[in-house]
Amino acid sequence: MKTLQNLNMNMVKPRKPHPLLQQQAVSTYDANRQLLKLKFMCGKYILQSDRASFSKNKVDDTCRVCYKSPETLQHMVLECSGLSAVRDPILRDIESEIEKSFPCLWQSYTQDQKVTALIECTVLYKKHKLSKVECQRLHKIDFQCRRLFFTLHTKRFKIFELSKGAASARPLNTISKSVCSGNSAGNLLITKEPDGCYNSVDPLGSSRL
Ligand SMILES: [Zn+2]
Repeated sequence: MKTLQNLNMNMVKPRKPHPLLQQQAVSTYDANRQLLKLKFMCGKYILQSDRASFSKNKVDDTCRVCYKSPETLQHMVLECSGLSAVRDPILRDIESEIEKSFPCLWQSYTQDQKVTALIECTVLYKKHKLSKVECQRLHKIDFQCRRLFFTLHTKRFKIFELSKGAASARPLNTISKSVCSGNSAGNLLITKEPDGCYNSVDPLGSSRL
């Protein structure tokens, strides 16, 4: 059950969609964000510490963005210095959104609790059933959380690509099947076009990043 450790099981009801999956994506771009967030909720986003664990530590778990610490979930989401420029503004938006419904709660959270709440913001509510107004507020918070994870993921991937220095020589239409089946940034498909812009690609469509 390790892969479901980020899911708030209190909100999982038979034959009912999870509250965070009840909202429709407002755009293809947002659909991509939802898809990525779902990977975090289900524990399917692969980090360097996971690779180290899968390989029985034959693979180094050091973060490939900052090279300062093991790349754990908490490190990527809250601590990695290489991602702080894109993380900090969105985190402020999230804190501000949470503050409207739960004054002073965010400041009382540990780092671990913050990561859990960013992935599964239903844990902010200490109950099983939410009113319509609470659901609307929840969706506003989750919208900002989706922005956070997608932005962190994209920045992380770009840093990987720059460090490899290989993507610029690879046209979009010749990307190999092996690359399209997954990548080192966590398996959401992202490709680079000749003009240097990035596209995320998934069954729901593609988006300019
Ligand atoms: Zn790092």
